[in-house]
Amino acid sequence: MTTDHRRGAVLHIDWTRCDGRGVCTELLPDTLIRDEWGYPLARHGGSTVVLEGSDAQRAADAVRLCPRMALRIR
Ligand code: SF4
Repeated sequence: MTTDHRRGAVLHIDWTRCDGRGVCTELLPDTLIRDEWGYPLARHGGSTVVLEGSDAQRAADAVRLCPRMALRIR
């Protein structure tokens, strides 16, 4: 995981790979929401999230567990 110490690591969702089953939204319920088709969205909208606090570890778990390799942390 690469961390920008000024703003923390960033989680990116690749919707072209995602199948919308929601593993990531279960792991990051305060950070990600699901749209009406089940695809994950940042709670503030869009496909990127700046990770803070304990979200970084849960996001790393989501990257590892995503069945479509649709998540990246940069
Ligand atoms: S875990 Fe991966 S495939 Fe599942 S909803 Fe999240 S990004 Fe999509």
